[in-house]
Amino acid sequence: MDAELDGLLFDLDGVLVTGGEPLPGVVEMLRGLLDARFPFRILSNTTLVPRRLIVERFRAYGVPLTVEMILTPPAAAARWLRQQGARAVALFVAPPTREEFEGLPLLEEEAEEGADYVVVGDMGDGWNARTLNRAFRLLMNGARLVALGMGRYWKAPDGLRLDTGAYATALAYASGQEPIVIGKPAPEFFKLALDALGLPPERVAMVGDDVISDVGAAQKVGMKGILVQTGKFRPEDLHRGVKPDLVLPDVTHVPVISGQ
Ligand SMILES: [Mg+2]
Repeated sequence: MDAELDGLLFDLDGVLVTGGEPLPGVVEMLRGLLDARFPFRILSNTTLVPRRLIVERFRAYGVPLTVEMILTPPAAAARWLRQQGARAVALFVAPPTREEFEGLPLLEEEAEEGADYVVVGDMGDGWNARTLNRAFRLLMNGARLVALGMGRYWKAPDGLRLDTGAYATALAYASGQEPIVIGKPAPEFFKLALDALGLPPERVAMVGDDVISDVGAAQKVGMKGILVQTGKFRPEDLHRGVKPDLVLPDVTHVPVISGQ
């Protein structure tokens, strides 16, 4: 990769943190970027926790991030739903994430009809046949399906887990609806991040552990894609039809950071 970078986008899980804890060297790296006023954003598909909590966790390690530096599908979706004039939104997200949707009209907890949008995120263990069927019935009763990202799986402390895309695809298949995707790998989500940085795509690199949703999707909008061998990375990822601009052992090796 010969081009110089003016900005960076970092994936969160598997790149900066694992199980909510920073990976080795990440705290020092982020402090260094903040001190140098190097432009970056965290572009995460997480729907398990609100941005406020991510910021609090980093602040506990002495990294003064702000909520504006973190872009997540729930925050972007809430803005989009407001623009659409949503009347009754059914949320399928982890309970702590509900605060990102504050102020929107929400459908009552157990209702199976009357929603205009069904918002599907990662509910973790909250997904079961009952919750999936409730989402399905709402869709069959006229709601539009909104997916908070289309990630296939991610690496939790106890092993690989199904991500939002797997649940959204099940609901799309059964209901016959194409999901409206807000999050990676949708190009619009990367463009939001570029707008936030105020930089053209060719001057920015996305650093991720998902060769498809982070690296390939960023390259599609004209950015550089850097794959790190942490998180859910597996050697087979190098043969999945995406050619990363760089493959690095971990995020602290990104050239602009290590001075290489
Ligand atoms: Mg990741």
